[in-house]
Parts: sequence; structure tokens; C-alpha cells
Amino acid sequence: MRAICVRKTGGPEVLVLEELPDPVPEEDHLVVRLHAAGVNPVDVYIRSAAQGRKPTLPYVPGMDGAGVVESVGPKVSGFAPGDRVYLSGTAALPMNGTYAERAVCTPAHVHPLPAHLSFPQGAAVNVAYATAYRSVVDRARAVPGETMLVHGGSGGVGIAAIQIGRAMGMKVLATAGTDRGRALVIEQGAHQVFDHHSPDYLAAIAAATSGRGVDVIIEMIANVNLDKDLGLLARNGRVVVVGNRGRVDIDARQTMGRDAAILGMTLMNATPEDRVRIHAALDAGLANASLRPVVGREFPLAEAAAAHAAVMEPGAYGKIVLVT
Ligand code: NAP
Repeated sequence: MRAICVRKTGGPEVLVLEELPDPVPEEDHLVVRLHAAGVNPVDVYIRSAAQGRKPTLPYVPGMDGAGVVESVGPKVSGFAPGDRVYLSGTAALPMNGTYAERAVCTPAHVHPLPAHLSFPQGAAVNVAYATAYRSVVDRARAVPGETMLVHGGSGGVGIAAIQIGRAMGMKVLATAGTDRGRALVIEQGAHQVFDHHSPDYLAAIAAATSGRGVDVIIEMIANVNLDKDLGLLARNGRVVVVGNRGRVDIDARQTMGRDAAILGMTLMNATPEDRVRIHAALDAGLANASLRPVVGREFPLAEAAAAHAAVMEPGAYGKIVLVT
């Protein structure tokens, strides 16, 4: 199969298209012929060995994908060749990521892809929507009627959080850095949008809550925003740190009078049972179209390096996806 192979960590240029042997399934595995693979910032951190994450070399990157079931092991039930599916990871086998034409999966990694969604949309589900769900529902314990600020609403996780918040009956505010991103955020359901580069946007957000503050903040870049977030919270407010790329000074006193909480979140900490519950919710939302993955840019598999450069640039517009 054709696949992207990383033989040494480094810049985007280490993502090289190669002809590799197909991964070999075991009796309890399925083989999925991939049509699209999702690109996530974490793929960049792993490829560059940043943030303490060192991959085992060589490897095929990617944990998001969508395609068609090609074969089903004798110990697998509930799937048949030809099923359209999206993936929430791949089996722990060497050289078995989603930046490839084929991936081997356990049944727990394989979810139905509704007919109204394209393969690139399917490849945009796993990390973004599971992260958003775990942040909003599991960590923030958001409830209908609360106000949520999605601080960084134009990217993969942000769009997912907006859609989940709206489906739950929350009031959703969001930010984006470009006109195009702000238009997308409104189109995807945010009640109001703000420009996180504008000097007075924090005052505008506070005014949008009549000075009460927001109950929940889903924070994509805590090293820039965490201190500002604390000043925007209502009493009993919660900030969920989803993304962070450096150190930050905060005035911890701002948490005190509000009984506020700063909550960390790493999707990798979700247990297999959490994953089953999260994907049951996501699959229901995909089926009834309250969740609608947005693909902003598609790159051919061979241009994975360009996709990795793009995912770190400002001006997000939904997900970046590789197509085979
Ligand atoms: P993405 O698609 O690249 O989106 C990044 C978002 O951050 C965009 O909406 C961008 O807005 C926004 N942003 C940029 N500068 C900002 C600022 N000063 N204030 C507020 N927002 C700002 O990335 P993603 O896939 O959504 O992931 C978002 C973050 O979550 C990344 O740091 C990623 O590593 C992290 N993440 C963490 C987990 C976890 O398990 N904790 C899982 C998935 C992702 P503009 O481009 O419009 O400026």
C-alpha cells in the first residue's frame, strides 16, 4: 500500500510517501480501505518529538480516518465488507496509522459513517469531536442553559464544541481570528462571535453576558488566554484547557471569589469505556445531523508535509484532511 512513513523525527519534510507492505490483521481485526485521513496538531507534536512525545520509529502517522471495510476477521461480528465507516484509531500494530491506503482496526475503532457524510467528513470526526465532547460534557459538566465560550472556535475542536453546545441547549459564544473563520463559526451555530485579535474583545464578551460572565470556557491556547479567561468566568465557572503551547502567568486570586475551576483535559486519558460512551453520543449526533464535520482543506496523501505546515498556521477553517 502507499502510506506516509516517518523514519526520523523532525520538520514536515520527514513525512515521506512510500510503498509499504499492508499491515497484517489478526483474527479479531478488520481491514479498512481508507479514503481520507484527518490531520491533527498532535500529529505534528509527535512527528517533531515536541512536548515530550517521542514516537517509536519508523511509523505511519494518523489516528483519524474514514473508508470502506475491506475484510473482517473470523472473530469479528457486526461488520461486513463494503460498510462505510469512520475510525477512532487503529490496532496497535507496527506501521499502522491512518496516513495510508489501508489500516487494521479492532471493532472498537470502527464506527458507521452515515450516507450523508463524505469520507473526508468522516476523517474529521474522531480526535476533534471526542475531544470536544470530553471537554464540554465530561470535564466541564456543562448543562443546558449555561453559557459557553469556545475560545478558538474556527478549528476542528472548536467547531465540534460549538455544535455539541448547541445540540445540548447551551448559549454558545465563540472566537476566531479571521472574517472567514468568524462567518463559519456563526454558520455552525454560535450565537455570537468575537475576534480574538481585537483589543476590546474581552469586554465585548463580558457585555454579551450582561456582565455575569460565562459558565464554561473551552480553551484552545491556554498559554495566551488562561489569565484572561479567569476574568471572564461567572461564579462556579470552569475553564477546560484543551490546547497549550507554552507557559502562562495567571492571577490565581481570580478563581477564588468565583469558586472557579481550571480543568485539564487529554483525550488519551479516556478509558475504553469512556470511548464507547463518547462515540455512542457522537454517532447519534452524526446520524441526526446535529453534528456536521467541516472540512476546510483537502490535500493529497503525498502532500502530508504541506498539510502539517497548514495545520499549524493561523486562519483555521474546520479540519484539514488527506485524501488517498
Ligand atoms: P486547529 O484546527 O488548528 O484550530 C486552532 C484554533 O485555535 C483555531 O480556531 C484558531 O483560530 C484558534 N486560535 C489561534 N489563536 C488564538 C487565540 N489567540 N485565542 C483563541 N484561539 C486562538 O486545531 P484543533 O484541532 O482544533 O486543536 C485545537 C488545540 O487543541 C490545539 O492546540 C491542539 O493541540 C489541542 N488539542 C488537544 C487535545 C487534548 O486531548 N487535550 C485534543 C485535540 C486537540 P484562528 O485560526 O481563527 O485564529
